[in-house]
Amino acid sequence: MTLVFSGHDYKYELEGVLKLFVPAAKFELIYGSSFPKEGDTVFTRVREFRSYALVYVIVRYSGSYYRKAQRIFTDTPDEKSDRELILSRLIYELLSRAVGIVPKWGVLTGIRPVKRVNTWLNEGKGREEIFRRLREDYLCSEEKCETAYATAMAQKRILDRLEPESFSLYVNIPFCPTRCSYCSFISQTVDSGRKLLPEYISKLCRELRQIGLIVKRLGLKLDTVYFGGGTPTSIDSSMLCALMKCIEHSFDMSSVREYTVEAGRPDTVTEEKLRTLKENGCTRVSINPQSLNDKVLEAIGRRHTADEFFQAFDTARRVGFDSINTDIIAGLPEDTPESFAFTVDKLLELSPENLTVHTLSIKRAAELNRGDRSILNNPTGDMVEYAGKRLREEGYSPYYLYRQKNMVGNLENIGWCREGFESLYNIYIMEEVQTIIAAGAGASTKLVGKGRLERVFNYKFPLEYIKHFDLMLERKDEIVKFYENA
Ligand code: SF4
Repeated sequence: MTLVFSGHDYKYELEGVLKLFVPAAKFELIYGSSFPKEGDTVFTRVREFRSYALVYVIVRYSGSYYRKAQRIFTDTPDEKSDRELILSRLIYELLSRAVGIVPKWGVLTGIRPVKRVNTWLNEGKGREEIFRRLREDYLCSEEKCETAYATAMAQKRILDRLEPESFSLYVNIPFCPTRCSYCSFISQTVDSGRKLLPEYISKLCRELRQIGLIVKRLGLKLDTVYFGGGTPTSIDSSMLCALMKCIEHSFDMSSVREYTVEAGRPDTVTEEKLRTLKENGCTRVSINPQSLNDKVLEAIGRRHTADEFFQAFDTARRVGFDSINTDIIAGLPEDTPESFAFTVDKLLELSPENLTVHTLSIKRAAELNRGDRSILNNPTGDMVEYAGKRLREEGYSPYYLYRQKNMVGNLENIGWCREGFESLYNIYIMEEVQTIIAAGAGASTKLVGKGRLERVFNYKFPLEYIKHFDLMLERKDEIVKFYENA
């Protein structure tokens, strides 16, 4: 598809709107005023006149033409209207007619739709005004207005209590038992990384000790700890124990309000590991079936069964975890609305404190992207809607929400929780409101303060991380500089 910009260069936003209708596609971008002779085309133009501007869009799709224009008078309140937003709405309207789909988030294309609602809440806008803007300016469906507003309200309670000198610690374990077909994280199988592991853990401990010294010097207070990856529980219990002890000795743990370890793959969960986590201060684990249909699990290369998930969940409860998250994904290959509904209902019978509903993202790196594109026709929207309806019925509320590029159906990932079980870390990372200092290969530190946001990156792969460790450790000085200049 070709996208033409004439009289403006609103590339990023307009390309985002196009992707709602043709996900995972590449566009030819043309700057100029000529209309291409053939092929699907979206032609956008802004013409400025003495007392008004004319904004118009022509779409040619499968040989049919669709047009719409809007005049913006320069000395009326319309002038304040964003030309970019008007163009987005025109494209959305014409492509909805041409392609026959109506994306529910309207022209709200960003990764964090709730951020905008949070801003409006901070400006003192009420529910009615926020709904009106989401509906009229951004063309969001009623259901998405509700979701965005409820999520922002749940976050408000947490964000209002956020202390400025607090920070979270993220520890990355980029190893997994096998690679899932939809994965695009940097993660290597634990078998291929076995030789590196002792060295990796020892370096990671050094990095954690160094961070401990820095935060002590800066007077920062540790709020949450999060082990992610990869699958942290794919390493041995003794290694988990070493890392957790290192954290305990390097940081003042008295201010920690949440300590999460992702035990993502049920095939890595053992009673011994869960006990190690519990005894070393972990308060929350995430055990993720993704689906409770074995056919789906096989199709995505998870190499575990639904039964293994039930056993892992049961063990976590027995060991004493009273805050468990479970992740599922809507839109997986081989899944159907019925089998997805079965997954949701079965999980709700277990009553996890958090249930995160992801929508499959077709990322370029993922194996799925190399094959059958019929995955895009999956009735994902119905699945997500069913999950939302059942979760609300069972007393769960949305508390964080984000989108990725190329998500099937332009939907979203939503974290649902029982009241009081909102994961603080998930909110902080999504809303970019707290410094997150990250350790390990592939991890990136996000420094937040006084209206500034800066990132410090670690080396991506475990081997690079080990090789260039000293150089990487030097980069930690950026943390000190950031706070000393703040
Ligand atoms: S468990 Fe997660 S990180 Fe590991 S391969 Fe699967 S999707 Fe990727």
